[in-house]
Amino acid sequence: MTYRGRFAPSPTGPLHFGSLVSALASWLDARAHGGAWLVRVEDVDAPRTVPGAAEDILDTLDRFGMRADEPPVWQSQRSAAYQQAFDALRTTTGLVYPCGCTRKEIADSLLHVHARHTTLAYPGTCRHGLNGKPARAWRLRVPDGAAAVIRFDDRWQGPQAQDLATEVGDFVLRRADDQWAYQLAVVVDDAEAGITHVVRGADLLDSTARQIYLQQCLGVPTPSYLHVPVVTNDAGEKLSKQTGATALDVRNPLAALHAAADHLGLQLEEKRYASLDAFYAAATRAWMRRLTQLRGG
Ligand code: GLU
Repeated sequence: MTYRGRFAPSPTGPLHFGSLVSALASWLDARAHGGAWLVRVEDVDAPRTVPGAAEDILDTLDRFGMRADEPPVWQSQRSAAYQQAFDALRTTTGLVYPCGCTRKEIADSLLHVHARHTTLAYPGTCRHGLNGKPARAWRLRVPDGAAAVIRFDDRWQGPQAQDLATEVGDFVLRRADDQWAYQLAVVVDDAEAGITHVVRGADLLDSTARQIYLQQCLGVPTPSYLHVPVVTNDAGEKLSKQTGATALDVRNPLAALHAAADHLGLQLEEKRYASLDAFYAAATRAWMRRLTQLRGG
C-alpha cells in the first residue's frame, strides 16, 4: 500500500495553533510512513469561507516547511464531483430523500439528545414523504437496528462505535441553502485522492462513522483514521477563530512547532532544534515512538 495522507483546512481564518497541531500530525505521520502528503482547501461551505484565508493558510504551511507533494485541491471547484456522487447515491441506493423540516421542527420533534455531542438525531420525519412541505435539504437514510452501529479502530483514540440511527439519524448531503454538506465532500475528495490515512483533530471523531457509512454506500475504500487531541482555550472550548484563536507568528515557525509537538506529547531528543529540517527529523522519530506507546507497545 502506498501511503497517502492529507491536511484539509477550512479557510475560515488564518492558520491557528489548533490547526497547526492537525497539520503537523498529518505531516509527521506521512513522513513516518514514507508517504505522500496532500493539502485540500475545504472551502465547500461558501458562506463560511473568508476571502484570502486559503492563500494565507497555504503561505503559512510553506513558511513552516510543510510542502504538499501535489497541487492543492479546492473544494469550491469540485461541485460536479459532488453532484455525480449524489446522483449515484440517489439512483443506486434509493436511500436519498428530500426533507422539508426546519431546524425548529426537528428540535421540537426530537427524540434523542446524545450527551456526548450536541448532534441531534434527526427523527426521520420526511422519510416517507414531504407531507406537502417544500423540499429544503436532501438526506441520506441510515440503517435501523444493529446495522446502524459503525465501528472503527482509531489509531490514537482506540476502538470507536457510533449508532447512526440513535446518535445521528438520516443526515444531510445537500443543505437547504444549496451547499454540499461537508460529509459528502470529504468522502468524495478523500476517495478521489486515494487517501489511505486520515489524520485530523478529535473534533471530527464524531463525523467519522457518517463518513464510513457514506464510503460503504458509494462503494469506495475506508481509510484508516487517527484523531489527535484538540487544542482548547482556558474555557475548555476547541480553539477556533470563534473562540479567539490568534493567528500563528509566521516569523517564528520553530517556536510554534515545538509547542505543537509538545501538545502531541512528542518527546524530542533535544529541547530545542535550530532548523526546520532538524526539528522535523526529530519530530518524525518522536511521532513513531508516540504511536508505539499509544498501542501499549
Ligand atoms: N475541514 C475540516 C476542518 O478544518 C477538516 C476535515 C477533515 O480533516 O476531514 O475542521
